[in-house]
Amino acid sequence: MDRRGFVSSGMAAGLAGFAGSGAALGTLFDKAPGFGPGKTMANGDIRLSSNENPLGVSDAARNAIIEAIGDSNRYGGRRQEVLDELARYVGVKTENLTLGFGSTEILQICTQAFQGPNTPLIAATPTFEDVMDYQDTMPFEVITVPLTADLQHDVQQMREISMRRPSVVYFCNPNNPTGTITESADIDAWIAEAPETTTFLMDEAYLEYVTDDRYWDSLKWIESKPNVVVIRTFSKIFAMAGLRLGYSVTHPTTARRLAEHAIQNSPNVLAGAAAIASLKDDGIVSRAITVNEEAKSIVHTTLDELGLEYLPTNTNFLMHKINGDLATYRGRMADEGLLVGRDFPPMLDHNRLSFGLPNEMDQWASAIKGFRSKGWI
Ligand code: PMP
Repeated sequence: MDRRGFVSSGMAAGLAGFAGSGAALGTLFDKAPGFGPGKTMANGDIRLSSNENPLGVSDAARNAIIEAIGDSNRYGGRRQEVLDELARYVGVKTENLTLGFGSTEILQICTQAFQGPNTPLIAATPTFEDVMDYQDTMPFEVITVPLTADLQHDVQQMREISMRRPSVVYFCNPNNPTGTITESADIDAWIAEAPETTTFLMDEAYLEYVTDDRYWDSLKWIESKPNVVVIRTFSKIFAMAGLRLGYSVTHPTTARRLAEHAIQNSPNVLAGAAAIASLKDDGIVSRAITVNEEAKSIVHTTLDELGLEYLPTNTNFLMHKINGDLATYRGRMADEGLLVGRDFPPMLDHNRLSFGLPNEMDQWASAIKGFRSKGWI
């Protein structure tokens, strides 16, 4: 697909996902507790830079946290209840689950369990870098493979590299920072044929936001392939980034192996209470998706109006061009109280914009339109 087709098809997918949801929004974000312009950062800045969920934790989770504060002097974050509810939500057994201090801990655990001096990590570039950073403390080689021209993982090349020796492959799908997906059929074809000595870390942090039907999750592999680790988080769709709870879904044998490296008494009391309440809240996922779609629609409309190219997104953020120097652009946005992105080499002609509440995206839209009238973008 050429660049123009690629960009506009992403837009179509985004808008299709949004169709019909506007009326249902009602006062959803008015009710977001503790949230509103001026409350995202202590100094009143609006943070559109860390792919957080701007809705905040649900009312039910907030009440559960408040109630659980009384138990903070005790050990135990209702671990079994969290596992039971999570197993029900994901549709697996508790023996398939491993809990972590965010999915970041799961990635660290996987590094400890699977990496070694003779087992390289094969990952895309650019991608979420956390797992590569453990190289600083553990001796393993990192082999990076650039994304393809249409910003998918280069499955074929990663696969060829993996054939040389036992390896760990990291798939961030959808990918951070590009927001793009890699077609699941291509990944599946590899997993189906791969030897057990190739371990797949399938990071699905943004799974719930996907609108592209060429994507599906990797859960179907966990019973037949102990070398597949599906990694997920409460940070995004459940708005619990600050509470730190993530998990993996694997074959029970792999879960037992991961458990040897995991902290045994997680989650903490507050995260456990919030997780149970969130998992029992049937509407929480669709509310987050609805708000995300409205924010995305505002961003797409604005960028289209300004003629600024952007990548198709299947997440709660997107990358767009600004036709100028990134640092200068970010500085000017910061002057408007809007924190947008950071550098993601080698994509230094794109800014990564995380979606906030619709009213916050309206503020961003009027700021960037003001930049155009000043000739800055
Ligand atoms: N994976 C991806 C792709 C991410 O973008 C992030 C955080 N931005 C994480 C994992 C880690 O999230 P957490 O540790 O909060 O679960």
